[in-house]
Amino acid sequence: MFEIVGNLHLHTTASDGTGTHTQVAEAAARAGLDFIIYTDHNTWVDGQEGWFQHPDTGKKLLRLMGQEINDQRRQPECNHLLCPFVCTNLNGAAADPQRLIDAAHASGGLTFLAHPIERPGYAEAAQMYPWVNWEVSGFTGLEIWNAMTDAKWRMRSIPRGLLGSHLPRWVLHAPFPEMLARWDQLLAAGQKVVAIGNSDAHAWPITWRGLTRVIFPYEFLFRAVNTHVLLPEPLAQNVEQARTQIYEALKAGRCFVSNNLVASPRGFSFTAEGGGQQAVMGDDLPFAGETVLRISSPRRAKLRLLRNGAIVAAKTGTELVWRAAQPGVYRAEAHRWYWGWTRGWVYTNPIYIR
Ligand SMILES: [Zn+2]
Ligand SMILES: [Zn+2]
Repeated sequence: MFEIVGNLHLHTTASDGTGTHTQVAEAAARAGLDFIIYTDHNTWVDGQEGWFQHPDTGKKLLRLMGQEINDQRRQPECNHLLCPFVCTNLNGAAADPQRLIDAAHASGGLTFLAHPIERPGYAEAAQMYPWVNWEVSGFTGLEIWNAMTDAKWRMRSIPRGLLGSHLPRWVLHAPFPEMLARWDQLLAAGQKVVAIGNSDAHAWPITWRGLTRVIFPYEFLFRAVNTHVLLPEPLAQNVEQARTQIYEALKAGRCFVSNNLVASPRGFSFTAEGGGQQAVMGDDLPFAGETVLRISSPRRAKLRLLRNGAIVAAKTGTELVWRAAQPGVYRAEAHRWYWGWTRGWVYTNPIYIR
């Protein structure tokens, strides 16, 4: 498998971000990303897709277009839907979440519930935008880790805000347990639900006591929570082909979420083998009496294997091998010590053994 790293949730000056499309692409290239998807609020901009090469370093990255859509007349403005790959502005369908999901797929896009579970920050409930209409169906997946959602909660008081603004590396910890529980609950109900993780970068300047600074610039966030995508072939040079490769991998769940600040997880793998067949994250595998699951990490970490949301094996090291005696939805996690805390590091999509 060929691994590429991208960020599928970010904002530019086309909505409420502070960087232009080009400035954001430069920051992403400096951070070493392979692709980004522009997802401005209720805005779709033509002419921004294609390869971008950083003028100084020569690093290339693929820029793709999407949208983050919500009903802006609804108060509070809940139900943010990330729609990567859509080919038109779907703002008109925003009022009805199910109609919006269906319209996004009809427009060639995928659909991820953005920051679906939030916790209050310093400014309390006024700034919470969770997903509330859980009766919807057919969406591609969930954004299980949104760096801004995590940061908002970690910096929920003045002392914590001051600490976080001086030590941004302290801020990001892990997806919320209730977020992972909701994901596991949907998986256990038999739904295929693809997990992604993103920056939701805006690069807003914060002013406090006359001092203005950007605590989370684009480049910093692009070095943090990202989605690693696994491709059967190297990423094509042709933009249409490359776009289709990333689309297919994300749709199938051949990807994992990681906070790259903790350590680079490049090379992390979660595979299964049974009945002469092999599977990677996102795949279905028929239960074959004895199926061997393998987590392999490029660095020592606390590895966990979960079945239907419950931990079935755990080990500190670089490899965990486990024989599955029964079918189930299996996924892997890795945690690592970083700047004084054990952090969530890697969250893979499941292998569906049925
Ligand atoms: Zn949002
Ligand atoms: Zn956003």
